[in-house]
Amino acid sequence: MGSIIKNKYLILRRISQLSILFLYFAANAYGWKILVGNLSFSKLFNTIPLSDPFAVLQMLFAGAAISADLILGVFVVLFLYGVIGGRAYCSWVCPVNMITDLAAWVRRKTHHEKDNLISTTKTRKFRYAFLVVLLIASAFIGAAAFEFISPIGIFTRGVAFSLGFGWIWLLTIFIFDAFVLKNGWCGHICPVGAMYSLVGSKSLIRVYHNKDNCTACGECLNICPETQVLTPVIDKKSDYINGIECTNCGRCIEVCNDNALNFSIRKYINSKGENNEKTTN
Ligand code: SF4
Ligand code: SF4
Repeated sequence: MGSIIKNKYLILRRISQLSILFLYFAANAYGWKILVGNLSFSKLFNTIPLSDPFAVLQMLFAGAAISADLILGVFVVLFLYGVIGGRAYCSWVCPVNMITDLAAWVRRKTHHEKDNLISTTKTRKFRYAFLVVLLIASAFIGAAAFEFISPIGIFTRGVAFSLGFGWIWLLTIFIFDAFVLKNGWCGHICPVGAMYSLVGSKSLIRVYHNKDNCTACGECLNICPETQVLTPVIDKKSDYINGIECTNCGRCIEVCNDNALNFSIRKYINSKGENNEKTTN
C-alpha cells in the first residue's frame, strides 16, 4: 500500500495512458463514441474536437484545407495544456512515454549514466530545430511529414488496428534510449514534445521546490527525464520549476523523501508584487 501511495502519480499516469489507448481501441472494435480518432485528431463524446497543434501546423504548411472542427480542436488543446502544462501530454497521454520510461529504468539499472556526456542542455534543443525542419519538409512534400515516422501514431494505430512492422520502430526507440542516449527520443528528438513544451510555457500547474526542506540528496535529479529544468532550482532556491520541458510527471515529487517538491499553482506575481518568473532560469 505504501508503494502505491508513493508512486501514485506514476500509477495514475499509466491508468490515464492505457485508458486513452483502450478508448481508441473500443471506438474501432465496439463502436464506442467516448474517444474516437487518434492522438492527432480526436472527438470526445462525439462532440468536442481535439487536434494536435503540431499535426495541424504541418497540414497548414502542406497546403491542406483545414476544417473549422480542426481549428476548434486546436484551441481546445491549447487551452487545456496551456493550463495543466504542455508536456503533461507526454507523461499523462502519449503512449510512447511508457516505452521511454521503461528504457530510462533499464538505463538506470544497467548504469549507463557515464556516457551521458553527449547529452547536454544544448543537444536537448535539437528537437526544436527538428520541428522546424519537419514543417519545411511538410511544405515540400505536400503532406504532414512527421506522420510518416511518428511513433505516437504507430503506437496508437497499432493498438486500434494492427502494429504490423511498427514494433521495429518502437523497439529502436527503446534501444536508443536504454543504451545510446539517456532520454534520447523524448528529451532530444520528438517534435511533438517540443511543440507541447511551447504550448505549456506559461501553464498554471507547476512543480514547486521548497528549499527549506531540500537535503540535496539528488534523488529528483536522478529520476527526472528533463534534468535541466531542475538544476537551476534544486538546493538553490524556493521556486517553481519553470523550465518549459518539465513534463509534470510528478516523479521528482514521488522520489523526494523530504517533501521538498509538490505540485502547485504558479503565481506570476508574488506577495511583494515581484514577477516570480524573473527569479528563475
Ligand atoms: S516527447 Fe514525444 S514521444 Fe515522448 S512522450 Fe512526448 S509526445 Fe510522446
Ligand atoms: S521536474 Fe519533476 S515533474 Fe518535471 S519532468 Fe522532472 S521529474 Fe517530472
